[in-house]
Amino acid sequence: MELRGKKVMVVGLAQTGVALARFCARRGAQVTVTDAKPAEKLSAQVAQLAQVGVTWELGGHVLASFTSADLVVVSPGVPDLAEMKAARAAGVPVWAEIELAFRFLHPEAVLLAITGTNGKSTTTALTGALCAQSGRPSFCGGNLGNMPLIDAVDHPANVAGGLIVAEVAAFMLEHCSTFRGKVGVLTNVTEDHLDRFGTMERYAEMKGRIWDWQRADDVAIANAADEWTMRETHGISSQLLTFDSRPGASVERGAFLSADRKEIVLRIPAAWGGDARASGALVEERYPTSDLVIIGNHNLENAMCAYLSARAVGLPAEVLRRGAAAYRPLPHRMELVGELDDILFYDDSKGTNVASVAASVRGFPRPLVLIAGGVDKGGSYQPMLEALAGQCKGMVLIGKAAPIIREAAAQHGVSYPVVDASDMHDAVRRAAALAATGDAVVLSPACSSYDMFQNFEHRGRVFREAVAAVGARSR
Ligand code: ADP
Repeated sequence: MELRGKKVMVVGLAQTGVALARFCARRGAQVTVTDAKPAEKLSAQVAQLAQVGVTWELGGHVLASFTSADLVVVSPGVPDLAEMKAARAAGVPVWAEIELAFRFLHPEAVLLAITGTNGKSTTTALTGALCAQSGRPSFCGGNLGNMPLIDAVDHPANVAGGLIVAEVAAFMLEHCSTFRGKVGVLTNVTEDHLDRFGTMERYAEMKGRIWDWQRADDVAIANAADEWTMRETHGISSQLLTFDSRPGASVERGAFLSADRKEIVLRIPAAWGGDARASGALVEERYPTSDLVIIGNHNLENAMCAYLSARAVGLPAEVLRRGAAAYRPLPHRMELVGELDDILFYDDSKGTNVASVAASVRGFPRPLVLIAGGVDKGGSYQPMLEALAGQCKGMVLIGKAAPIIREAAAQHGVSYPVVDASDMHDAVRRAAALAATGDAVVLSPACSSYDMFQNFEHRGRVFREAVAAVGARSR
């Protein structure tokens, strides 16, 4: 695809917008950058593009620039603006950043694309860690961290056989038309972002687009236990493998846990092991869960996705084992941050919706005291309260949602204490007092953070400080 001399409109000026503008300008496009925010609020990004020579349309959008462009490229998180609709109506292609990046990938580079409501980042980072162990050139990014997929184009991994792992948000799939992973993973689809997509049907359909452009020799990986995800597998062209972490579950092709839950069992095409004669035959492989430092049932699901993905693109079993053992949790995802008298403190500040908390506390290896609350998202707390049954020694509530969660817990008839705290330090003190040797204190709030903190990272940092303040040894 040729960008030289083309009028390209870059919508949204955050990190990805900066990368996009640079990318297009380097290839000789005439770039216009637009953002609803005024220039004063974007000074850092504007400065980063000072040398690039772009036209600015900040503090709002100019309709005529959209409709007269040759191409509109959209950063993640930008809503489907009226101007974008008008551009489409005028026959101007409107692409997500990942669609543009995809068109510049080497045809024989191997793309692994990962989406889902929860577990995207962990699955992406773990898959990336396995790929990095393989000795093949690899890239890991997308929505994850600070490497948008467009950065993969000029990365050493963009060669035949290179491995490119990308976290993909549903928002981006909305503006795709050919984007296709050799492997496409959908971890789960649960209630979140309905403010943007309106209905669960539409939200699930967007996530299901991860498979829409796949071909027969591509691989789709789906959560067998999740109805919304499985709905989206109907009619796909690629080979479907599923995973199921429920006790006693097994799957025909894919991944599940051994009866003692000490092993991840993969049931995969023998051809993935390089046995070309074995068409259609399946083999079973077993991987000890003790290889993994990350804990919780949800992380076993993430590991199943990562292992299946890695085997699908030809990584051998020993690479999976080495990569898994070397992998450490991302910050604020069930991260062990302190220990006091064998009470372990975990920061799961990224647990910002009910489904993510339910998944991360279900089958937790220790009894736990949960710290939750913040800004309520309007959904039901029932799944979280069900997952806590039999596991939970107490709940400490913070933020605006505290009365709502307290009421839900009372309705549910919980038998453990539910107490309020005035701030994070108070919450950690109260939680530590409710916990005993051998227990865990887990911050997994099920809510957004912005009533008390700047973002989930800030909330996690304050938690860590509060854990240190009660005298815990840092881990
Ligand atoms: P995402 O990038 O989709 O937000 P993360 O890997 O950052 O996913 O995890 C965010 C939070 O979601 C974690 O802190 C944990 O509470 C929860 N979580 C992680 N993996 C899963 C999963 N497979 N299923 C459900 N919840 C999960």
